[in-house]
Amino acid sequence: MRFAGKVAVVTGAASGIGKAAVLKLAGEGAHVFAADIDEAGGQALAAASNGRIEFIRCDVTVASDIEALMNEAAKRGGGIDIVFNNAAAGGDRAPIDEITPDGWDWTMNLVLKSVAMGIRYAAPHMKGRKGAAIVNTASVAALGAGYSPTAYAVAKAGVLHLTKVAATDLAQYGIRVNAICPGFINTNIFTTSLEVPDESKDAAKAVIAEMSAHAQPVARGGQPDDIANAVAYLASEEASFMTGTHMLVDGGLTIGQRHAW
Ligand code: NAD
Repeated sequence: MRFAGKVAVVTGAASGIGKAAVLKLAGEGAHVFAADIDEAGGQALAAASNGRIEFIRCDVTVASDIEALMNEAAKRGGGIDIVFNNAAAGGDRAPIDEITPDGWDWTMNLVLKSVAMGIRYAAPHMKGRKGAAIVNTASVAALGAGYSPTAYAVAKAGVLHLTKVAATDLAQYGIRVNAICPGFINTNIFTTSLEVPDESKDAAKAVIAEMSAHAQPVARGGQPDDIANAVAYLASEEASFMTGTHMLVDGGLTIGQRHAW
């Protein structure tokens, strides 16, 4: 029960990594405000929680939605101790020589500005609270160029640097800020969440299957709980000496696979 008495806010809470993190935090005692644009998914999560999880609708591409989310969570919870800025989707999939200005802006807004505004509007409610911690979802795409579409990769790299800068800004208030970098994790982001044609979804599923089978040292598919466990650690007092850094949870994907020669 590492989070007994803590108030947490999680975005992208209705599915995948966010949902697993909500259940992990609530399972260890937190009162969790679960935010998403998926109202049915968010409400279902809350309904099954005996009051420990409350759903608040929030579109993280709308700054005023994020401001309202943090204000409402702080009002109902009496403050905020933990924030997991996690919501995102794949964004514009075009390469750099084809992407449009609008596609670029949409992706930066969805993947990077959303996290910046999450920190911006949560921090005032977290100042001075013992063990206050923010965790942001980056990606292996922030560390290597070939793991994702172009704009998403750049935005996730921005999330990593934002994490460092925010950690320096907020240290004076006792707020730690860290990021996680998931590898390929079996979630809806490769299927229903992506606004892509079916053939691209099939290609994404094939990549996941390949990763699971042999392309990374830990030869199984990454699961949302693999990431939720890391998020819980970073949000807990066990990580009280960690700020401005990231945890890579990728089954060894980025160290590469040994090839016989
Ligand atoms: P998912 O599609 O299962 O969950 C994403 C959730 O975010 C959904 O519930 C969706 O409704 C919500 N969401 C999407 N746009 C939103 C918006 N504008 N406002 C509020 N909520 C919104 O995907 P996931 O894999 O769990 O993704 C969670 C995070 O993990 C994302 O930041 C993603 O970029 C990151 N990530 C995922 C992987 C992976 O392999 N699955 C790898 C690296 C990073």
